[in-house]
Amino acid sequence: MHRGVYRGTKRFGSRENLSSVAGKSGARSVLVAGGAGFLGAELCRRYLQKGFDVTCLDDLSSGRLVNLDGHLNHPGFTFLRQDVAKPLQLETSFEYIFNLACPASPPRYQANPLQTLKTCLFGAFNLLELARATGARILQASTSEVYGDPHVSPQKESYAGNVNTFGPRSCYDEGKRAAETIFHDYHECHGVDLRVARIFNSYGPGMDPQDGRVVSNFITQALAGDPITLFGDGTQTRSFCYLDDTVDGLIALMHSPPTEFEPVNIGNPQETPVGKLAELVLQKIGSNSRLSYLELPQDDPKQRRPDISRARKRLGWEPKVNLSDGLDRTIGYFRSELAASGKIAPGAM
Ligand code: UDP
Repeated sequence: MHRGVYRGTKRFGSRENLSSVAGKSGARSVLVAGGAGFLGAELCRRYLQKGFDVTCLDDLSSGRLVNLDGHLNHPGFTFLRQDVAKPLQLETSFEYIFNLACPASPPRYQANPLQTLKTCLFGAFNLLELARATGARILQASTSEVYGDPHVSPQKESYAGNVNTFGPRSCYDEGKRAAETIFHDYHECHGVDLRVARIFNSYGPGMDPQDGRVVSNFITQALAGDPITLFGDGTQTRSFCYLDDTVDGLIALMHSPPTEFEPVNIGNPQETPVGKLAELVLQKIGSNSRLSYLELPQDDPKQRRPDISRARKRLGWEPKVNLSDGLDRTIGYFRSELAASGKIAPGAM
């Protein structure tokens, strides 16, 4: 429970005073840290569409400027190339802050584990300080990885998880867990108005073809006619949530009433074995790629499926796009990305 005098919305009256949180055009303003990733860029697009001034802060370590192509000339859009882990010197204050700044793909976050920890921890402190100082509401993009390799399924928010502190995934899992704790304690100690979303395996247009996650790997491999890199025996499961659904969930959570400050799972409960995903992708693309079975990485979770009762009840949100439709749209996107660089095998045209 919250201590002291900061409870509820009382302290955040200034947020409702739009002149104190107006952006450069005088409109309401939002900061999206990690806004050049595929989820962040879609958030930027949605808020620009709503008439907000949008500032995107990204160091482009995994985000891509190409995702912001449609926004860069918008008068309400500002891009700041900056590492969220370094001190932020922002002159503007914001009504809303989203923290999506961190690589989410295992090969990317494991490439520089100490930087991943800094991004998670210092990024959380820096953005929470900004929120505390300016009265902004802040949403943390947490992850299903806080449940680690779960012993229960589906995973409810009350499940404390099964996470290794001492392995290749720990930098991300424990970084995101500690970030949740920092968020919890900023609410407890400083009354910061915040939301925490635990995002489960998002995918969709805008993903980097080199991202390294399973959906982008399988689709780009099948399109190129390369072997499909299936880790383990393919029986491990994930629940894949399409971009638009995830972003709808994040926005609904950001604008939900400040009555509770508990984390909320944002994901699609449709659970799919990774081997089945490979079959589906091959069949949709009509690809002749063969399956190449590789060793399952250490600590790779065997099953993952969100219980989204809390999101349904509190936000009236649930995903609308099933895996088959989401894959069709995502394959369409990768097809044009790869066609531009001449990487599509003749059979997969
Ligand atoms: N995976 C795979 N082939 C790949 C990439 C991933 O079989 O080329 C598996 C991985 O071992 C995991 C699942 O697909 O079981 C999801 O991996 P991803 O990296 O997309 O995300 P995670 O949920 O593990 O963070």
